[in-house]
Order: sequence, then C-alpha cells, then structure tokens
Amino acid sequence: MTRLPKIETLAIHAGEYVDPTTRSSSPNLVMSSTYAPSEIMGFSASSEGDYQGYVYARSGSPTVRQLEQKLAQLENAEDARCFASGIAASHAVIMARLSAGDHVIFPESNYVGVAEFARDSLPRFGIKVSFADTTSVATVASAITPNTKMLWLETPANPTIQLADIAALAKIAHERGVRDVVVDSTFASPIATRPLDLGADLVVHSLTKYIGGHGDAMGGAVLGRKTDLEAINMEAAVHYGGVLSPFNAWLIMRGATTLPIRMRAHEEQALPVAKWLESHPAVSRVYYPGLASHPQHELAKRQMKNFSGMMNFQTHEDGVSIAKRMVEKLQHVHYAVSLGHVRSLIYWIGTEDIEKSTFRHDLAAAGRYSNHMGKGVFRLSVGLEHAEDICADLARCL
Ligand SMILES: *Cc1c(COP(=O)(O)O)cnc(C)c1O
Repeated sequence: MTRLPKIETLAIHAGEYVDPTTRSSSPNLVMSSTYAPSEIMGFSASSEGDYQGYVYARSGSPTVRQLEQKLAQLENAEDARCFASGIAASHAVIMARLSAGDHVIFPESNYVGVAEFARDSLPRFGIKVSFADTTSVATVASAITPNTKMLWLETPANPTIQLADIAALAKIAHERGVRDVVVDSTFASPIATRPLDLGADLVVHSLTKYIGGHGDAMGGAVLGRKTDLEAINMEAAVHYGGVLSPFNAWLIMRGATTLPIRMRAHEEQALPVAKWLESHPAVSRVYYPGLASHPQHELAKRQMKNFSGMMNFQTHEDGVSIAKRMVEKLQHVHYAVSLGHVRSLIYWIGTEDIEKSTFRHDLAAAGRYSNHMGKGVFRLSVGLEHAEDICADLARCL
C-alpha cells in the first residue's frame, strides 16, 4: 500500500508541480480567458466531451484547476469545483441538484445568505423548503418525506456555533432515500472535519474564510464525487457563470498552503480567549466548541480535530452600546463582518434584528434561537494575533 502524504505536506504540494515549460517552482498564474484547442470541436461547452485541454475559462482554467486539485486532496474528495464566492458555490449545488417539486431540509439557523435564499427564492421555483433543528437527529428524521432530495447541514453553524452530527444525520437521511447530504464546512475547514469521510455527499466551503485565510480574495468550492461535480460544473459554471477568477484562485492557493499551521495557531489563540471571556464579569455566556461548557462539546471532540477560531459570546450590557465602543476603541481586532482571517474580527448580531431580516422563525424555533442566543451575540473570529493582545483589546470595550 502506498503511504499518503500527511495534510501539512498535501496543503503545499497537492495540485502543484514544477511547470514543464518554465521550470517555475511556485504555481503560474494563467489569466487567459480562451484557449487554442488542438482539435476541432463544436461551439457548445457540452461538445467538449472527453477533450482533456482547456477551451474557455468559464468551463475550466488551469490555475483554478490547480486549486481544485489541492482542495480535493485536503477534503479526501474525488474532485472539487470552485466558484466566485461561498454563496455562488451554495447556489450552484442547490440549483443544479434540485427541481420543482423536490423537497429540501435546511437548518433552522444557518449562514444568513443561504437562509435568506432558501426562504425567499427557492419557493419561487417550486422547490419545497422546510427548516429543522439539525442539532437533533430525531427532529431531522421526522422532517424527511418521500420527496426529500437534499439535507443541508452547516457545522459549526454561523452564527450559533451549534454542531450537526454529520455521521448520524447522513446515515438516517440515506436510509430514508435522501440523495444529497450537503455540509457547509466553512467554520471547520478540512483540518477539523472531513464530512465526506463521515458519509456526506457534497461539501461546500466559503474560500473567503479559513482556506484563503488572508481576507483578500472571495471564493467558494463544492467537493464530492467526480460525476456529480461534472454535472454541477456543466450546469452551474457554464450556465450560471459564477466562476472563480484565476487571480483569486492563485491567491487562495497560496493561502491554502499554510492552512494546517494556521488552523493550529487559530485554535491555540482561541482557547485562552474563550476561557478569558468565560471568566469575565461582563460576559454572561460563551459558545466555543473547545470549551467543556459547550452543550455539544462531546460531539465536537468526536467530530472536530481542531476547534478553529470561531466563537460567540453574550454580555449583560446591551450589545449595541458595547459595539459602539468597539468601533471607537478596538486597536487590533476589527469590528467587521467575515471571519477566518489572520486578523481578528468581531461583529454584533442582535436577535431581534436577525429575526426580522433573516430567520423569521415560527414561535417554537424563535424560542429555541433566543434560548440559545439570548438578546444577541458577539461573533468573534480569533485571528493569529497573540491571545493576550486580543483580550486586552476586548477588555477596553467590555
Ligand atoms: C461566509 C459564509 C458563506 C458565504 O461565503 P461568501 O464567500 O461570503 O459568499 C457561506 N457559509 C458560511 C458558513 C459562511 O461563513
């Protein structure tokens, strides 16, 4: 049996090679939008067939392909396809895999962009959507119908930091005939969790976050079986067109080489920050998968090899007042959306506000959300600064 390289080695070498023409050691950036094919073929992308080369950058291009090969090896996937953003990748999976009459289950609280799209746009296309508490296997099981084609999971979830038990949920979903178990694994990254190994069919990442890691390039990826991804590429890349630019692929590929060591460093700074917050008198509650107080800490230990840098916390004082002080006083941490960057980022997410703008939960779900999230949380993405400096910065505002 051949020995597979370890993840630190794969992060650097997978998808990369010495360029045969220039002998360049680092990857080239190929910006060309069109390619001169070596044989005559039809005009539609569907006629590219088994042609191995590139034709037009919307159906595939070399620098993007190198990133896709790197990501596939990191996730232990047969293949990967990249898109212009995490949302473009999510949209590609949902629209390419579902048709009018199909039923899909989403978590009752997940990433706002996907939640709003599921709630507001999908019903317009005749796709039946329901929302379930994905922290409970029994609840998800009871939401499955004979028409359910897709179960969408996000773990840890943005912004609740709740986990979904991928292995248990994938098992029950498949037993009941669900074709696609999709996991948005942006918060975990392939360093913490590899959903395909746990039984998922497709994985989605916002590359804008940990995988790119430097806050300077948007991107998204879908990973899974080769045949599924070829179909998603033909429909979503070629016909919806939200493809990743080669320049962003080149930046994200460079970022991805340090993903394993960055994730270790994020966790190393995040744990002391979470413990400090937990002991701070102004703070009433902290959710971080690495804390024993996290309600799903046992699942986190089983499912995550790294607890990442994502947490949220609640305060006794009104969050908006604290957020105002943060805008003025923070020196290192930026009061800004997004996450997974070398720089620490914090943002206030008020429960009343997000219930109006995004979730519009029914009474029972709204109760579960506010039981967990109180009046709102500060979502904190711990960067690679020293934990003592992050705590000192937050202490100025709490
Ligand atoms: C940011 C994010 C997305 C969307 O990604 P973009 O690159 O911003 O489009 C999707 N899922 C999760 C969990 C995210 O945090």
